[in-house]
Amino acid sequence: MCAAFAARKMARSQGIGDEQFVITILERNSSVGAKIRISGGGRCNITHAGTVKDLLRKGFQRKVEQRFLRHALHAFSNEDVRAMLATCGVETAARDDGKVFPVSRNARDVLEAFQSMLLNAGVHLVAGERVTRAERLEEGFRVASEGREHTCRFLVLATGGVSYRQTGTTGDGLDIAISLGHSVVKPSPALAPIYLKPPPPPELVGVSLRGTGLRVQCSGTVVSRNGDVLITHKGVSGPACLSLSVDAALLLNSHGKGELTLDFFPDHSSEEVAVLLLRHGEAHGSQFIRKYLQAQQAIPSAMVPYVMLQAGIDRQEKWGSLTKKARRSLQRTLKDFSLGWLKSIPLDAGEVSAGGVALQEIHPGTMESRVCSDLFLCGELLDYTGEVGGFNLQAAFSTGWLAGSSIRYPVQA
Ligand SMILES: Cc1cc2nc3c(=O)[nH]c(=O)nc-3n(C[C@H](O)[C@H](O)[C@H](O)COP(=O)(O)OP(=O)(O)OC[C@H]3O[C@@H](n4cnc5c(N)ncnc54)[C@H](O)[C@@H]3O)c2cc1C
Repeated sequence: MCAAFAARKMARSQGIGDEQFVITILERNSSVGAKIRISGGGRCNITHAGTVKDLLRKGFQRKVEQRFLRHALHAFSNEDVRAMLATCGVETAARDDGKVFPVSRNARDVLEAFQSMLLNAGVHLVAGERVTRAERLEEGFRVASEGREHTCRFLVLATGGVSYRQTGTTGDGLDIAISLGHSVVKPSPALAPIYLKPPPPPELVGVSLRGTGLRVQCSGTVVSRNGDVLITHKGVSGPACLSLSVDAALLLNSHGKGELTLDFFPDHSSEEVAVLLLRHGEAHGSQFIRKYLQAQQAIPSAMVPYVMLQAGIDRQEKWGSLTKKARRSLQRTLKDFSLGWLKSIPLDAGEVSAGGVALQEIHPGTMESRVCSDLFLCGELLDYTGEVGGFNLQAAFSTGWLAGSSIRYPVQA
């Protein structure tokens, strides 16, 4: 949609009439914006506050993504998104954590704003039209859908990723990009829950941990994130898990297994925790170990029996009788509590998918294909992955806008 708005704006600014430069969106669903409607749990975390530099640093892990998206974010920034929505009466506000939502907290308002902008931009929306093929002609493209054909001078592919397939994102755009000469980094899960084998015990389901360290490790390879974690009936979820899932999926794919562990004190080294336990034990010989653990904010009380079990410490044990070996075991458990082994990281359950059309095949300053001229690609279809926080919608808006504004309609003499 942003590509269409930008293309129209650019054309009108050059005096090119709407009837001369026809813009058509072919959408397989009965309406546009299925993911906007469900984004942010129906509240739509539309973007993230801060400078472009902040957005790149906080929102995208890989340097190659940051370099690629820099141009697009400058071309159409978070402030531009907010200003665009404000012109349609949708005011937005940033929370303390930087996430920006519509003040109404209603994703439908955002979607309605986009729909009214499509009308104002004179964009033809052909809904229920699933594109199956695109073919390069001498000039322009022939685009085939189920039962119809369209020709166009420029083609923008904006078909999204491959997760939440029920919303229409089944990867058709990747096949079309491949047929037009592109290479694709195989899609993999991102911003997804992690399933464990065995699943967590029922007593732990629903337990949430604040600011914990979440780690996946196998054969010396370790990937980790710090943040909030939620234990579910199948494994874990929550911000730290969603962020970690992309790296965890790659590790699982390459090693075939991986152990998920918690670090209850991610801001303290193992040595610091060892000293803390030693000092506490010396000063509180008559205290039950479990009482000490229950008093720790970092350890939900439902987890205390499991921590003690893993450390091999009896629930009646007191600091005064704790052996050095047992204290070391407790310290190791607090820094490396095993939640279980990875079972799977479901691709479809991810808020986004990693992988997509290779970034080096796209001009970052225009979003035009380097392998097929007049073809533009944008959004989650590309091989970038934003963190939770409004970064994915922002990247889709920015790359879409840059693609649309880079289309140069030939002005007839
Ligand atoms: C549950 C959920 C919550 C999310 N919440 C947030 C959030 O709060 N903030 C955030 O920043 N990001 C969020 N995201 C991620 C964000 O929604 C996506 O990254 C973003 O929508 C990608 O935009 P896009 O335009 O590239 O693709 P999409 O928004 O996926 O749009 C692609 C469109 O292409 C259409 N299409 C696909 N194939 C064809 C075809 N063959 N023919 C015709 N049409 C086709 C699809 O039907 C779809 O309408 C969330 C995602 C999910 C699943």
